[in-house]
Amino acid sequence: MKRQQIAAGNWKMNKTYKEGRALATAIAKGMTSTDSLVILGTPAIHLNAVANIVKKVPNVEVAAQNCHQEKSGAYTGETSVEMIKSVGAKYVILGHSERREYFNEGHELLAAKVDTVLGKRLIPIFCCGEPLAIREAGTHVAHVKKQLEESLFHLKKKAFSKIVIAYEPIWAIGTGVTASPQQAQDMHKAIRQLLADKYGSDIAEGTSILYGGSVKPANAKEIFSQPDVDGGLVGGASLKPDDFLQIINSFS
Ligand code: PEP
Repeated sequence: MKRQQIAAGNWKMNKTYKEGRALATAIAKGMTSTDSLVILGTPAIHLNAVANIVKKVPNVEVAAQNCHQEKSGAYTGETSVEMIKSVGAKYVILGHSERREYFNEGHELLAAKVDTVLGKRLIPIFCCGEPLAIREAGTHVAHVKKQLEESLFHLKKKAFSKIVIAYEPIWAIGTGVTASPQQAQDMHKAIRQLLADKYGSDIAEGTSILYGGSVKPANAKEIFSQPDVDGGLVGGASLKPDDFLQIINSFS
């Protein structure tokens, strides 16, 4: 089965409204026809504008970087999935290591967010990955397995089939240190095996698993060419249109 190849950008808390529109416009203008999917993960306040900018550009979608687990209500300052959907976004990044670490998002909360996102027919891009100490201890596969088990494996097969996974070793995020193509491949293969054990090989073979952690134009091609790597979730390099466009064009 041919899996969807995806280049997703995570802008994090960067870019003013004007700068965000300029970045989205530059990416939209620079896109050449591609079979892969491009997703722009913008700050919530930019979603509407960016969704409008890319509306007519084939294969480009917009993602929120977080959402609240409740559908609506007295949660001052929060963003609901219904709001996200109403401005044209189709994806929600969940479980990014920065949200896990700085906002104390744990397994149970993330499981609730996954359900809320799927309940509105949006697609979670579910992030997982280990810190350096776990990698050095050699228990990284067990660490990621627990993240998947606790926040995703309650899903029935049909619901799980919508999920996009992003493997992001924390030691590689924003550090300039990238996992080697082989390290990425080994972990992606292990994740795919976990999915096969839980949901069967059809689901495992159909799930896009993205790599995240200092993806740059110089390393994207080699990482994306690994058999179990279906693209990338890109932070820093997604803020520079030329770099991100090169990454988009790194699929063979
Ligand atoms: C990220 O934030 O998801 C990320 C991978 O960041 P960077 O590409 O900057 O390492």
